Amino acid sequence: MFAFSTDIGYALTADANDELARFKKEFHFPQKDGKDVIYFCGNSLGLQPRHTAAAIETELESWRNYAVGGYFGGTNPWLWYHQYCTPALAKMMGCKEDEVTVMNALTVNLHLLMLSFYKPTSSRFKIMMEAGAFPSDQYAVETLVKHFGLDPDKAIIEISPREGEKLLRKEDILQNIEQQGESLAMTLFGGINYYTGQLFDMAAITEAAQKAGAIAGFDLAHVAGNIPMQLHDVNIDFAVWCSYKYLNAGPGAVGGVFVHEKHATNAATPRLAGWWGNDEKTRFKMEKGFVPKTNATGWNISTSQVFNTVCLKASLELFEAAGIERLRKKSIHLTAYLEYLLKQLTHINFEIITPADPEQRGAQLCLYFKERGKEIHDKMISSGIIVDYREPGVIRVAPAPMYCSFEDVYRFYEILKNNF
Ligand SMILES: *Cc1c(COP(=O)(O)O)cnc(C)c1O
Repeated sequence: MFAFSTDIGYALTADANDELARFKKEFHFPQKDGKDVIYFCGNSLGLQPRHTAAAIETELESWRNYAVGGYFGGTNPWLWYHQYCTPALAKMMGCKEDEVTVMNALTVNLHLLMLSFYKPTSSRFKIMMEAGAFPSDQYAVETLVKHFGLDPDKAIIEISPREGEKLLRKEDILQNIEQQGESLAMTLFGGINYYTGQLFDMAAITEAAQKAGAIAGFDLAHVAGNIPMQLHDVNIDFAVWCSYKYLNAGPGAVGGVFVHEKHATNAATPRLAGWWGNDEKTRFKMEKGFVPKTNATGWNISTSQVFNTVCLKASLELFEAAGIERLRKKSIHLTAYLEYLLKQLTHINFEIITPADPEQRGAQLCLYFKERGKEIHDKMISSGIIVDYREPGVIRVAPAPMYCSFEDVYRFYEILKNNF
């Protein structure tokens, strides 16, 4: 598909032709020996956009100048603050504005949404997830079923790769869903597994889950800002994600929530509520009786977290300008280039765990170095390249298309080639 070459000229030409190249200078990079580092850790914590500080200052100013009046006055009245992120998120996640909101943080939202949709009965009570899901998701599901008095060993079905394999096969997931049939209450998969980088076929999983009569929920922590979604059309029941990875909204940033319109418009859909999910028309009458808003914001509980949400609001402006489809197009090219260069390093004993098919992965490649993994990681860090390391010898490399260049990828390759 691409006419790659190991000559640095390929990288330089690709950067010169990159319509998104200008976004690199919109970010602050940590410094190493007086130079910007090369940052491949956007799957863990994205970089800080340069205009985030000014955006925060705007809200500090409203607070200084208006105090409580800031809820209805100032540049961005705080009463509706969570809704300022909605248009950009709806585009990126492929849903209606009524189906998305921001609140709390990822695992909290996972709990809240599972409590809305997990209604175990004596016959239908199982939750299916991928084995090796992010620990927080495992803990959330484990404690949820215990909360209902169920035994995690019986209520949680984990799907593992086949013997000798590292990735899940779609047919195995679908077959398991069908097998569980009427005992299955919910599927909860990561859209992309945080470790392997495998992107699951969410449409197929959703269809199979719903055919079995179960709810299809997804954790999109590694998808949001990485892969354009079609959450509405795919008919996913609910999804949650964080905003500090590819979305660049800073540590502990406000989390994202999708509730399909078929549930969101139904005031009778169960939920744990607070006043921010109550209709604004009656909210300040302070009366008894929760009247949910009939959209995803009906799940908001507390007053908008302005100083947290402002960072997402600022970052989403860059996503709006770049466009998620254009980012994805560059990302496919960038990650394929990384993969191509890595494959030239036949003298190094390592394996790429992430699927080779671009349709089954996002920006991240997961590399397993069978020897010298820690040494390679140390060399990357001392050379000013930030990548993530996990025992035993796994380096996850995520060239985020928003601020990584083809030359960055070439430099990573060069260090591996010349030092190992
Ligand atoms: C990053 C990540 C989390 C982290 O959850 P927080 O509640 O934001 O700390 C949870 N699940 C997945 C799949 C993740 O990738």
